[in-house]
Amino acid sequence: MSELVSRDARVVWHPYTQHGLESGALPVACARGAELELDDGRVMIDAISSWWTVLHGHGEPRLIAALAEQAARLDHVLFAGCTHESAVALAEELLAVAPPGLARVFYSDDGSTAVEVALKIALQAHRHAGANERRVFVALEGAYHGDTFGAMAVGEREPFFAPFGDLLFEVRHVSVTASAIAAALDELGERAAGVILEPLVQGAGGMRMHAPELVRAARAACDARGVFLIADEVMTGFGRTGTLFACEQAGVTPDLVCLAKGLTGGIFPLAATLCTGALFERFVSDDRARALFHGHSFTANPIGCAVARASLALVRERDVPARLTAIGARIHARLAARLGSRAQELSLRRRGGIVALDLEESGGYLAARTLERRRRALELGVLLRPLGNVLYAMPPACTSDAQCDTIADALVELSRST
Ligand code: PMP
Repeated sequence: MSELVSRDARVVWHPYTQHGLESGALPVACARGAELELDDGRVMIDAISSWWTVLHGHGEPRLIAALAEQAARLDHVLFAGCTHESAVALAEELLAVAPPGLARVFYSDDGSTAVEVALKIALQAHRHAGANERRVFVALEGAYHGDTFGAMAVGEREPFFAPFGDLLFEVRHVSVTASAIAAALDELGERAAGVILEPLVQGAGGMRMHAPELVRAARAACDARGVFLIADEVMTGFGRTGTLFACEQAGVTPDLVCLAKGLTGGIFPLAATLCTGALFERFVSDDRARALFHGHSFTANPIGCAVARASLALVRERDVPARLTAIGARIHARLAARLGSRAQELSLRRRGGIVALDLEESGGYLAARTLERRRRALELGVLLRPLGNVLYAMPPACTSDAQCDTIADALVELSRST
C-alpha cells in the first residue's frame, strides 16, 4: 500500500464505500484524455468518465485555459443581487440549445441540488397558483436522482436510501410504462404535483433503457392534468444518449430540466435547472414571500460557468453526441461479436455512448462479486464500477478505437468470470 493510500485510510471517508470491506483507494497521480495514471505508473482507461462527468477527456486544454483565465479575472462573487458575464452568457447559450420553450436558468452545484431546485420550483409554483394540495410526485421504479433529501425521496428507496425511508416525503413510484404513469396521476388526482424521470436511460438504477415514446407519454399525461414534467438529464445531458439532450429524441420540452455532470465537461462542479417562462412568472410578484428562497454559496460560480461555456463550444465544434455514439457503437459491436449468443441472454444494450449488459445473478447493487469485478477490471487496465450485476461503459469523447476495444474486452472477461 502506498504512503498516500495509508494516509487516506487514516483520515478520509469515501462516498458509496464500505470501509470495512474496501481498503486501498486507487491513488491517482494525474490524468490525460481517457486515461488515469496511478502513482505507481500504472495507467487505467477511465471507462465510466469518472462517475459520468468527464465528457471530452481529462486535461482538455480548452477547458483548462477557460478555467485559468476566469479564475484570474473574477474568481467568485455571490449571485444574489450580483451577476457576471459568464453566468449570463452561459444561460443564453444553454437556452439556445435546450428544448424550445425553456426560458430561465437557475444555477446550483451538482446533480442533487439541480433536482432539489426543480422539485421546489414545481411545488412552490403549485402553491402560488392556489393548488396547495398538489404535493405528490410520480417517479419511476429504479429511479435515481441524487442523495439529498428531496432527491432521495423521488429515487428508488432500496438499497441506497432505506435508512431514511421514514423521513422521505410521499412519492408514487410506478413501473416504467405510460399507462402506469397516467394511472398514478389519476389516482392522485388533485394531489399530483408532477412526474420526474431520467429520459431514455435510468443510470444508477442499472442503465435501464426505455423508448422516447415513454417520455412523450409522460409529457402528454402531465399536460392533460396540468402538472409538471421534470426531466433529470444530469447523466443523459450533453450527448451521452446520442443527442445533446435525451428529451430531443422524444421531441419533448419538459417544464424543468436538471443538468450537471457534463455541464462543465465534467471537470468542475456546477449545475443548472432550466424552466419555462410560465413557471418563472408564477414567482414574479410584489410580494417578497413569493420569491424562490433557494441559493448556495457557490451559485453560478464564475469559474464553473466559464468552463461550461468552453465545454459547450467544444460539444458543438466536435459534435460530441455523434462522437460518443460512434464510441458506444464500437464497444457494442465488439461485445456483440465476442459474446455471440450470450449477448441476448445478457440483455446487451446501447443508447448513444452508453453500453450495458446484465449478468445472470441475483444480489442487485450490493452483489458480493462487485468488488472482485472492479479489481479484475483494474488488472485489465480499465476503471469500471459495475452497478451490482450490471456491467456498463460510458467513456469520454476522446476515447480511441484501441481503448474502446480494451474496454469491450474487459467487459467480456468480467462477464465470464462470474
Ligand atoms: N440525477 C441523476 C440521473 C444522476 O445520475 C445523478 C448522479 N449520479 C444525480 C442526479 C446526482 O448528481 P450528483 O451526484 O452530482 O449530486
